[in-house]
Amino acid sequence: MSDKTLVNPNLEFIDEVVGLGGDSLKKCFQCATCAVACPIAPENSPFPRKEMIAASWGLKDRVVGSADIWLCHECGDCSTLCPRGAQPGDVLSAIRSYAITEYARPKKLAKMVTDKSKLGILTAIPAAWFALMAIITMFFGGAMEKLFHVFGAHWVHHTDAPIAQARFISSWLVDLTFIPLATAAIVIFYLGLKRMINDMHENALAEGKTDKQDLDIKELLKTIPAVLPKILKHKQFNECGENKARGTAHMMVLYGFVGCFIATTIGFFLLYVVGSAGPYSQINPLKWFGNLGGILMVLGAALMIKDRLGKDKSSNYKDWYLLGLVILLGATGLLTEMARLAGSTFGTYLLYYIHLIMVFHLFAYVPFSKLAHFVYRIVGMTYAEYANRQ
Ligand code: SF4
Ligand code: SF4
Repeated sequence: MSDKTLVNPNLEFIDEVVGLGGDSLKKCFQCATCAVACPIAPENSPFPRKEMIAASWGLKDRVVGSADIWLCHECGDCSTLCPRGAQPGDVLSAIRSYAITEYARPKKLAKMVTDKSKLGILTAIPAAWFALMAIITMFFGGAMEKLFHVFGAHWVHHTDAPIAQARFISSWLVDLTFIPLATAAIVIFYLGLKRMINDMHENALAEGKTDKQDLDIKELLKTIPAVLPKILKHKQFNECGENKARGTAHMMVLYGFVGCFIATTIGFFLLYVVGSAGPYSQINPLKWFGNLGGILMVLGAALMIKDRLGKDKSSNYKDWYLLGLVILLGATGLLTEMARLAGSTFGTYLLYYIHLIMVFHLFAYVPFSKLAHFVYRIVGMTYAEYANRQ
């Protein structure tokens, strides 16, 4: 008597993957050309053929919890060679987006971030919040000075420069907004990644992709230094054939964020440790890192947009949301500074207001947006290295 396997399809999962850009999923007829063509897939149980069949059968747990989906760098080589136009690269991208929504909590917010009809409300929240912060800064400075005096702190955080962002929205209020948001994002990532790592290990054991029986988190963490150089050098992108140039744009955005992170760290140190308030001189290292970071973000995102439009590549809301956010973050940061140097008070404060709304999007919604794939991919690659997947 032959063994029978009962397939219990998750139809909602199929619909969601289709809605997230994997609408070509059902065209796959399992020829395996993609698994042979993929320059990154390991020989043992290569992807993305098996992900295509599992996704089209609605076997959510088989794909969402697999580390393999994070090894794919969306180069598109498999999609170019697929004889059925099933776009396996896009399907894997849709599965990754689904996985981010699946692991992040609260799920309701995760769904909102991937729903374009909710962009208005998600933007109105920070717009209203920073409008309130501007009113407090500009009209209630005296009361805030007294309040801060109680805690032994000074309310005013700017030099005598006639135009200073902190005159419009206090640095205190900006930091008291973003520090809790960043902390919440870290907690959300931590909880999501914990679930994901357990799922990846279960999946690897079930599919014979690891020789590690027990999951040892300490050993897993020790693998990070071996994976980081690959990520920083974008080694996987260099193995792509079809879309190699995308690696350059991707790397520019990555280093743009690194530059802005360093600038923010220096700013914190100068303000809260040294006690030196802005605006800072153009020769301050904070400016070098901030300006270079902003330029890299704008150029990298512009190159990605050009690539998507030029190749008529399948793109959906989550892709445009991310690209729009990156380009607006960089551009509004740079333009705020230019307006200040040009002596435009209104221009500086308006652009700074928009910039803060974008930063809010980054901090509050990043665990749910496509940008989160960067964090999930690092963990997926680290797990694969730890599990001896390659
Ligand atoms: S996605 Fe395309 S190349 Fe891959 S197995 Fe299906 S039909 Fe073949
Ligand atoms: S998009 Fe590139 S990396 Fe991803 S599965 Fe296809 S060939 Fe492999």
